[in-house]
Amino acid sequence: MIIDAHYHLAAREWYSEGWWQTVNGMYINGMRNLGIEMPPEMVMETMIPALWDPEGEALINDMETNGIDKTVLLPMDFWLMYGEPEVSLEGQLKAFSDLQSKHPDKIIAYATVDARRPNAADFLVHAIKEWGLKGLNLYPQTGFFMNDAVTYKVLEKAYELGLPVTCHTGQFGAVPLRAKYGDPIHLDDVTQEFPNMIITAGHMAFGWHEQLFYTAGLRYNIMTDISAWQDVAHANYLKFCKVLRHALDRLGPHRVLFGTDNPYVSALMSTRAYADIIRDLPQKAPEGITFTEAEVNAILGENAARILSLS
Ligand SMILES: [Zn+2]
Repeated sequence: MIIDAHYHLAAREWYSEGWWQTVNGMYINGMRNLGIEMPPEMVMETMIPALWDPEGEALINDMETNGIDKTVLLPMDFWLMYGEPEVSLEGQLKAFSDLQSKHPDKIIAYATVDARRPNAADFLVHAIKEWGLKGLNLYPQTGFFMNDAVTYKVLEKAYELGLPVTCHTGQFGAVPLRAKYGDPIHLDDVTQEFPNMIITAGHMAFGWHEQLFYTAGLRYNIMTDISAWQDVAHANYLKFCKVLRHALDRLGPHRVLFGTDNPYVSALMSTRAYADIIRDLPQKAPEGITFTEAEVNAILGENAARILSLS
């Protein structure tokens, strides 16, 4: 079973122009690292529109073609950073909910809300009860700490509702996102305040992955996902294997989830190709680093299924 626990369904009108400029900047920088120079206008006109899939048709087609069993959709709320988009947050969440209703065997859709919005906690309750969303995604790099009092108001509701929470962690380097808010150290407070809440530290806190592994070691409700590590797996397989082995050793194999951050990383590596890298670890890992079939199965799907109460 393969579950992508970190996917961002995207449509132009769900996010303001500023977000697409941010993605544009990330792509230009990422390709420069691969030795490819592309004019910004070309990226904006070709690569960015390729991400848009408001009805989820491309996603479902990719899942069916490539044997991806389930995908967790993580919406994003960028209103304070970029301004209100053409389609409101309600509109985005409703689209997620509609896709989940259409494909209940394939799609698990989360809610999101910037904790600083007026009535954010009530909005979350509404999103869960009215639209049947199954978890909460938070994006602190837009300007709040996970252990802020304002964030706790939203987390308290998530806790009452028994929701799994995904929190974007790590240093993306993207302007104008603020890296400091993504430091996984802030999850230390949260996990002790909400001891039974399952919190997944997205992106394995890149830049701070060591900090995450040591912080989360004895915080048994912290999970992590390996989304957006495809560039490392592609360019430095030895490093990827070492980091993943360390994650499994510090957290235990039951706390590491497969995820992609697609469609944003699809141009570099498809979801299936990344899953295959994980699937092949027991046979292909460099000498001296070992992975078991049981660990692979846990990462690829069993852990997410357990967190999402699918098994
Ligand atoms: Zn993400």
